[in-house]
Amino acid sequence: MKHNFGAGPCILPQEVFKQASEAVLNFNNTGLSILEISHRSKEFIAVCEEAVQLVKELMNVPEGYSVLFLQGGASLQFLMSAINLLPEGGKAAYLETGVWAKKAIKEAKNFGEVEIVASSKDANFNFIPKGYTVPEDAAYFHITSNNTIYGTEMFDFPKTNVPLVCDMSSDIMSREVNVSDFGLIYAGAQKNIGPAGATVVIVKNDLLGKTGRTIPSMLDYQVHIDGESMFNTPPVFSIYVAMLNLRWLKAKGGVAAIEKENIAKADALYAEIDRNPFFKGTAAKEDRSRMNVTFVMENPELEKEFLKLAESRGCIGIKGHRSVGGFRASIYNALPIGGINALVAAMQEFEQSQK
Ligand SMILES: *Cc1c(COP(=O)(O)O)cnc(C)c1O
Repeated sequence: MKHNFGAGPCILPQEVFKQASEAVLNFNNTGLSILEISHRSKEFIAVCEEAVQLVKELMNVPEGYSVLFLQGGASLQFLMSAINLLPEGGKAAYLETGVWAKKAIKEAKNFGEVEIVASSKDANFNFIPKGYTVPEDAAYFHITSNNTIYGTEMFDFPKTNVPLVCDMSSDIMSREVNVSDFGLIYAGAQKNIGPAGATVVIVKNDLLGKTGRTIPSMLDYQVHIDGESMFNTPPVFSIYVAMLNLRWLKAKGGVAAIEKENIAKADALYAEIDRNPFFKGTAAKEDRSRMNVTFVMENPELEKEFLKLAESRGCIGIKGHRSVGGFRASIYNALPIGGINALVAAMQEFEQSQK
């Protein structure tokens, strides 16, 4: 039995894999594969509408927001968010909490002034900055709710009158958030929503159309809203599998229910990291992510040996990102508690073996 702790693309529920594989051969008894049906067919339009509806339902998206399934990953959203929301000659504020935030900052600089209000760069991004002020004249304030590489997560969203733009790629739908606190939320699908290839965007409609610049069609949120995510051929299979996964989440009791499980999973793993004398966490305790658990060994020379043991016990994908080292266990929605138990058991087995 394999436990996939990969950071993304990542684990999805087994039953979703099974349903998706059946649809590759015969989609909804159409006699056609999901890979060949027209995106304009009534069957696929129904899939796309259900996927959008499930996002709205699971996240309690209020009136006045649009939900889109786009392509280009979160990385294209770094640019799209800025080109759509940062007016000519205007300014945007950013919180620098890791590599993804830095990439978002780099893209925004193409479209206006960027003010970095706070950064945890000097501590290798091992905490979430607090106690900063957001300039009132910024068009928006961009944050990253979960820093996938460094294992930090923002549990208190900033209180500001400036619209919040959030890269929620790696913790979307892992916990309840108040969508009305945000002007724009975006997330590459491949962490909690579905397979790679789709990007979810939730945008407040009345923020759009105010930049004074001409936006190329494919980069214009309004064009995609008007085209109901079908301005061009959408990633049909990715959206279909995302829809299946969102159905799975709804059947489990939705975001509130999965949040409870996620808390229990993260607590169990951090408890072992704190108890076991061979390991230590890398992120500030109050900012520890419930999605990506980063940890190292007290003696780094033992890391290869532990990695081998963990892999032999089925724990796959725990090698840390090169910028943090050590280990990273990504414990997204679809990872069952059994995966955590297996990793904790491997850590205990390692401890015993060193006696
Ligand atoms: C994975 C990730 C990205 C990059 O997403 P792509 O879809 O590969 O562009 C951006 N931000 C965060 C927080 C991520 O976890």
